[in-house]
Amino acid sequence: MDKSEIKFTKELHDYILSVSLRESDVLRRLRAETDRDPNAIMQIPPEQGQFMAFLIRTLGAKRAIEIGTYTGYSALCIALALPKDGVVVACDINDTWANIGKRYWKEAGVSDRIDFRLGPALNTIEELLASGQSATFDFAFIDADKSNYIRYYEAALSLLRPGGIIAIDNVLLFGSVVDPNVLNADLRSRISDTDISVLRELNEKIGQDSRVDMSMLPVADGLTLVRKL
Ligand code: SAM
Ligand code: CA
Repeated sequence: MDKSEIKFTKELHDYILSVSLRESDVLRRLRAETDRDPNAIMQIPPEQGQFMAFLIRTLGAKRAIEIGTYTGYSALCIALALPKDGVVVACDINDTWANIGKRYWKEAGVSDRIDFRLGPALNTIEELLASGQSATFDFAFIDADKSNYIRYYEAALSLLRPGGIIAIDNVLLFGSVVDPNVLNADLRSRISDTDISVLRELNEKIGQDSRVDMSMLPVADGLTLVRKL
């Protein structure tokens, strides 16, 4: 039996959560509030948040950037894993959603670790680079508009110090990188042909990129970890 024969069933997923999920009360309540939004599928699952927090603590990260904040669940996971003097720059074009997160960031006592920047992430990153912050970040999480993913990847590499890590979300696009026909109607309305071709191109590019060490994980909707050499 090879690994591809292990079917990742709902029962197996429930089992993993039942024995290993350590989600704090504030994170759980933010997830519950977000679940009432029709776009809640955009939020990372809790076990992914726990994994990213583990990674950030292992890395000893102090400076992080998040590209795509939505209602702030992943930003909260990152902030809680940072030391007291750490900071995550959280980028999004929508502050109605971010305002939901802000209430929970405050409640969790980490508002001062989350520097929310409203506007296109590429503009925010441009400002960070222009103000001399290249090679100063330890961790980047890419989870915004898929059509810009290659630009985000290059920009994140510029922001990262050697040894820093980028986590790139949705690299499997619900299986559509292999076969777009697997998408149901709701996902098909969210994922464009351009998104699929950009993700395929980025996945192949990173696999061959000699500037980085990398690992593509079948976590949630696919999470590629890249370490800048
Ligand atoms: N990381 C979030 C979480 O786990 O809750 C989910 C992020 S959601 C998948 C993608 C977000 O990217 C949306 O909130 C959307 O407003 C934002 N977005 C879309 N285009 C953007 C852009 N050009 N710059 C910054 N954010 C953008
Ligand atoms: Ca995502």
